Amino acid sequence: MYPYILKISEISSDPRHSLLERAKLLNDHITLLENNDMIFFNRVSLNGSTFRRLVVDKNSNKKEMIYLASNDYLNLTQHPRIINSAVDAIRQYGTGAGSAPLFGGTVDKHVELEQKIAKFKGCEDAIIYTSGFGMNYGTISALLNKEDIAILDMYVHASIIDGCRNTNIKFFKHNDVESLEKVLKNVKDKYKTKLIIVDGVFSMDGDIAKLDKIIELAKLYSAYVMVDEAHATGILGENGRGTPEYFNIEGKVDIVVGTFSKALGGVGGFVASTNDIIKFLKFNSRSYIFSAALPPSIACSVIEAVNVIETEPIHRQMLWKNIEYFRQNLLKLGFNIGNSQTAIFPIIIGNERKVMDMSRDLNKENIFVNTAFYPAVPRKSSRIRMSLMSTNTIGQLDRVLDILETLGKKYGVIP
Ligand code: PMP
Repeated sequence: MYPYILKISEISSDPRHSLLERAKLLNDHITLLENNDMIFFNRVSLNGSTFRRLVVDKNSNKKEMIYLASNDYLNLTQHPRIINSAVDAIRQYGTGAGSAPLFGGTVDKHVELEQKIAKFKGCEDAIIYTSGFGMNYGTISALLNKEDIAILDMYVHASIIDGCRNTNIKFFKHNDVESLEKVLKNVKDKYKTKLIIVDGVFSMDGDIAKLDKIIELAKLYSAYVMVDEAHATGILGENGRGTPEYFNIEGKVDIVVGTFSKALGGVGGFVASTNDIIKFLKFNSRSYIFSAALPPSIACSVIEAVNVIETEPIHRQMLWKNIEYFRQNLLKLGFNIGNSQTAIFPIIIGNERKVMDMSRDLNKENIFVNTAFYPAVPRKSSRIRMSLMSTNTIGQLDRVLDILETLGKKYGVIP
């Protein structure tokens, strides 16, 4: 009988075993689950991030799947103008940046992208990193010291938590401003700098941080605010400028960060803030200083992606049409989708066996979803995680809803 529970962290850190024993045990555990179609991590595709994903299964068979697992919400990875800007840039600059930004890797397009992002986010200046993870890690660890504290929503992205290695941390309950206020009261005069950090849109739940209330509390308790706009950039706000635009508080958030790897269709991270903070990061942030600059082609494609977001609202409109349709119908069927408000749809099930059974059956039906288990989410809220793109068709969504209804009933997830 194969296990119906994913035990990655337990096996990986089991103190009874040496490294090689732990690696062997983990490999056996994962392989057993994979061989029984219980998990589908590291699936291989033969085409890009499109709504019809061409996947190779474990027996080397090709199949076309409805793709509900991309962060490429506006499908800009496939936009002709954006593709052309990257291709032209490769011809002009070659394939890589050649060096780290401070030491010779910077080209004019990096500077243009920094200025573009700063303006788009309503801030004085910006800095760009080669990955979003590296951005959070390198930014927070540069900004906060032992005398300071990071006050985090308990569901913030892993890179934010890892970035707190040089400082103190306190968590508040997810999206709960009363819990935040309690923490702020407790830490009141104990730390030099207090930085509240939240995701604008939470990556596992698709809900939106109460940034307007958070800003008010921060002012009251002399704290700073940093918001991670990874899943909000291009999506939220009338013009896609993100969570501050959505709440009409642009210019009031101290540090706005994000990634280029989601709606902007590229890869890399950014921080937008004051001139002083940006210069401070350029000379203190280790993942910026000691890492190669973004390939110029990516800088060019992201510049063009921001242009598209600013001038072609149709992509965002199509996405929101899909979001509304899918949400209404999932709710009608009785699924627990938490407080999802955006393109990220969890189906919260809790029972890991049911999540694995459903994901196996969805795979059989050629529907490509993700699953999330502990420690990515709390033990009791294991889930199917789906995300929509602007280009998913209503026909596709109807088919997914039909299959979900059948499976939800089969596994007792819905009435
Ligand atoms: N922040 C958040 C909120 C994210 O969801 C992610 C990626 N999932 C990151 C940062 C890291 O970004 P990247 O994948 O671009 O390194």
